[in-house]
Amino acid sequence: MSKNSTDFQQLARDIKTLGESLGFQQVGITDTDLSEAEQQLSKWLGAGLHGEMGYMQKHGSKRTRPNELHAGTVRVISCRMDYLPEPMQRTNELMEDPVRAYISRYALGRDYHKVIRKKLQKLADLIEQKIGPFGYRAFVDSAPVMEKALAEKAGLGWIGKHSNVLNKQAGSWFFLGELYTSLALPIDDPAEEHCGDCTDCIDICPTQAIIAPYTVDARRCISYLTIELRGSIPIEFRPLMGNRIYGCDDCQQVCPWNRFASLTDEGDFKPRQNLDTIDLFNVFQWTEKTFLTKTEGSAIRRIGYESWIRNIAIALGNAPKNRLILSLLESRQNDSNPVIREHILWAIDQQAA
Ligand code: SF4
Repeated sequence: MSKNSTDFQQLARDIKTLGESLGFQQVGITDTDLSEAEQQLSKWLGAGLHGEMGYMQKHGSKRTRPNELHAGTVRVISCRMDYLPEPMQRTNELMEDPVRAYISRYALGRDYHKVIRKKLQKLADLIEQKIGPFGYRAFVDSAPVMEKALAEKAGLGWIGKHSNVLNKQAGSWFFLGELYTSLALPIDDPAEEHCGDCTDCIDICPTQAIIAPYTVDARRCISYLTIELRGSIPIEFRPLMGNRIYGCDDCQQVCPWNRFASLTDEGDFKPRQNLDTIDLFNVFQWTEKTFLTKTEGSAIRRIGYESWIRNIAIALGNAPKNRLILSLLESRQNDSNPVIREHILWAIDQQAA
């Protein structure tokens, strides 16, 4: 079938069916008008709420104008895929166990960039089999793409007050990926907002990072502090981080719409290396080599060993006072890495106080 004779209505239906057959829970299509999101982003950046995430600013209008990032783009095929690996009750228990290491649920399995990118590529190949070569480029949270605003426009869910995308039938535990394309497909209706009067995520946030509905001050967010920020974590936030050593799911955990979340059936998102059960005592003793081995193929690896031990030291400082923890911290108080050393000394003070 040549593209001139393509029935785009039928093709859009086929793309959704193909996407679901590849393991995506939902596929939506939108145009490339992100003018509203562009204004919001510019306000957010202007207020400096992105902290040290300079890459948010770096690409100028490429982020909000898909055609500038990939020439010829007129539509975006937005796909979502559930990742919750175990019941939320279990997540609650872990969050409340101060000697366990809490790792954001999205990072327990194989690196989602790889998994989703592969599926998007397969989707593009299947479309190509139907209509011949066409213009596209796949993205998974690694290029300047407004993935949440695009998902909302494509009807996959609305952006909640915590700034994640959530869906009435599926909650918010899902990844997003996009195919930018030159195919003039019919577009879907945007999702409607259903937060209403709820403020649960704003109220629960340990560091009060949601400074107004729909506005997150990244500089206060535990995900930013543990994953994006290099070097020293501001002291005011350390006691509030509890046992969260990589990311934080509190705002999703409390959201009433996540009662409807389903567990993932993607094997690649199941926990690896017992990352869902490890205790702080154990993980603090990993050498850099162990860290690199245990996080092979995982998104965690990109924060590097220094930030990993830094985060664990804070969690150990926040754990109930315990002689064994204190001795363990003291055994590394002369660590040659100044960032690690500074956080260990802080943790020792907490334990010894
Ligand atoms: S917790 Fe409430 S306010 Fe926050 S995203 Fe969920 S529904 Fe919206």
